[in-house]
Amino acid sequence: MSRYWNERTASLVPYVPGEQPKDQTYIKLNTNENPYPPSPAVLEAIRSATGDQLRLYPDPTCEDLTRAIAIRYGVSEKEVFVGNGSDEILAFAFAGFFTPGSPILFPDITYSFYPVYAQLYGLDYETIALDESFGVPIEDFRRPNGGIVLPNPNAPTAQAIPLAQIRKLLDSSPDRVVVIDEAYIDFGGESAIGLVGQYPNLLVVQTLSKSRSLAGLRVGFAIGSEELIEGLNRIKNSFNSYTIDRLALAGAIAAIEDNDYFETTRQAVIATRERTVRQLVRLGFNVTDSKANFVFVAHPEKNAADLFAQLKRDGILVRYFNKPRIDNYLRVSIGTDEEMDAFLAAIEKIV
Ligand code: PMP
Repeated sequence: MSRYWNERTASLVPYVPGEQPKDQTYIKLNTNENPYPPSPAVLEAIRSATGDQLRLYPDPTCEDLTRAIAIRYGVSEKEVFVGNGSDEILAFAFAGFFTPGSPILFPDITYSFYPVYAQLYGLDYETIALDESFGVPIEDFRRPNGGIVLPNPNAPTAQAIPLAQIRKLLDSSPDRVVVIDEAYIDFGGESAIGLVGQYPNLLVVQTLSKSRSLAGLRVGFAIGSEELIEGLNRIKNSFNSYTIDRLALAGAIAAIEDNDYFETTRQAVIATRERTVRQLVRLGFNVTDSKANFVFVAHPEKNAADLFAQLKRDGILVRYFNKPRIDNYLRVSIGTDEEMDAFLAAIEKIV
């Protein structure tokens, strides 16, 4: 607490990210990073963007990256916005699209950044409880609101929302902005990008952090109507026009263009996930139906906090959330086959 903070800063409850230990000996399955390196084309592009070019500001319009994304996803360049991680785009959407005085709706349980942004921008919010099997009850979103945010697949539950449900939501909420946060969509969910042409209030947000192995580069993008994208550009230019640096622009373009590498690595993660799920079920775990690059698991006879601590002692970091309803669950990111074998061997010894 400081006398220099205003009331809003004083009352903020900041988001706490997962641990990023300096000790590289951990098998790190706690922050949903991709276990595979970025495409070799990305590393090459970043290398060629260094040197004298760093004297110059990056392109504030991010034109080349915007074009690469528009081509890749079959939309117009005016329907694409790029940002410094999808977190930044989500923050801009909260700042610019959601209506004060009317509650923003998002599920409980979900990505814990949403309430932080709501607080930061002085917005009210109401949470919609997940059903008993962690499904998102779409009907419950039919109530007066100042905007809706839905992650698909949801985090940390890993479950996907069928596209038909998203369409239903959009049909019942024509007046407010609906943000679909598709951070994990490439691991098995159905993207809402194809609906953008029909719903001018739909903003689909994706990231290069997960399926393109670039969490360290900080690049995300949004696809939505020209109206929404123009709004995001206004907000961006009011904070800082240079949100994406030269190295990130170069690397991100190469990542979007190397579709073969993207396909190979995402299929590898999916295959490893399916194998891991089978093993965990065999060991007696309840495992949600994951369409993400992580699994959400609970053992009926074991305490999750104890499992977390024991795994950590064994050099394996997973995520434990000390929150109501999920305090007996662990979220485990999908690593390489070798990493998951080590995880499964460690867990088999405990349960
Ligand atoms: N949305 C969800 C649901 C996430 O889990 C994350 C990653 N923590 C993000 C958005 C943000 O990802 P990034 O800022 O790296 O694009």
